[in-house]
Amino acid sequence: MKAQKSSKNLLFKFILLLLPILIINACSDNELQESAHDLPFIKGVYGNPATLLEAGYRFDELGMNAIFVRSISLDQDLYDAAMEQQQRVYVEFPTLLGRNYVEEHPEAWPINEKGEQAPPADWFMGVCPTDPEFFEFRKDQLRDILNNFDVDGIFLDYVHWHAQFETPDPILPETCFCDRCTALFSEESDIELPDADIPETAEWILENADSEWRDWRSQVLNGWVAGMKSIVRELQPDALVGIFYCSWFPEDYDSALYRTLGIDVEAFAEMADVLSPMLFHKMKDRSPEWVGEYTNWLGGVIEASVENEPLVWPIVQAHDNPVEITPEEFRQVMVEGTKSPSSGIMMFSDQSLLDNPEKIKVMRQLYVEEISND
Ligand SMILES: [Zn+2]
Repeated sequence: MKAQKSSKNLLFKFILLLLPILIINACSDNELQESAHDLPFIKGVYGNPATLLEAGYRFDELGMNAIFVRSISLDQDLYDAAMEQQQRVYVEFPTLLGRNYVEEHPEAWPINEKGEQAPPADWFMGVCPTDPEFFEFRKDQLRDILNNFDVDGIFLDYVHWHAQFETPDPILPETCFCDRCTALFSEESDIELPDADIPETAEWILENADSEWRDWRSQVLNGWVAGMKSIVRELQPDALVGIFYCSWFPEDYDSALYRTLGIDVEAFAEMADVLSPMLFHKMKDRSPEWVGEYTNWLGGVIEASVENEPLVWPIVQAHDNPVEITPEEFRQVMVEGTKSPSSGIMMFSDQSLLDNPEKIKVMRQLYVEEISND
């Protein structure tokens, strides 16, 4: 009980500390977004783009103007090469992914409705988002990146509750019913929970307070985005904040985007400078045309209901999973991903380009000859 209380106090103090920064953020957001709208069309590669250099390619000769690099793949050599070749550097930041972390910190392991540690969802293992030490751990990692490299943006990845969506058969567990999560839910939603064990408490919540529970879970994720954004704004006010997120339509899989992953696309759109829907059509068993349909739909949502309109830079699939993506199909999804209101495009990933150099030719032709810089 004491531990719960101190974690609640910590969270409250953190929000108080954050308030002035959030207010300053609101003022600087408009200016930053205005300048972001002046960017050329972004032509990127996602992953560890150093592999392209190692294979003898140059970013500028491939028509690229940006790299999207995983945090763990960012080093001084890659950064210097990117600068020399006039590339923008956007860094992917793995927000709530953490198998090693939960193995070493069992108090941060997501708990399912049975009161057990939720098993890994295929390769993904999420972390309980209300664990205060994990929040601090990630904030320190983000500060390290921003203190070491002058970047063009930070792209938050894995901003969702424990689940697996990069597959035609998603894994959608109910989490997290740890004592800390249910106590915070009770306090912040002003709902009194029965004095019961975890399975009974979980059952009570899902039967009696389902919509409040889903809302609260979404707010927790929004708190993560706000927290990470405040660090970026504080340390590098000109850097953009992007979010990679699951591109399901709201009604797909019984509304699992919101109900299970906890993602409120409009809230993300309101906070981010750039939204990058992960339009992995083959992994999600969709048609190539779906890439353009989703991009267009997202544009409509942003126009209709978002005040601070973010840029939209889709990430499409070049990776051969679960079946081959031919160069022709890769070309098709790249073109679909540049449809309105897209102002940037990238693919997952550098390695899949190198696995089939025909895809590099496709990308180069699009980037050099077909996609305008405006
Ligand atoms: Zn929890």
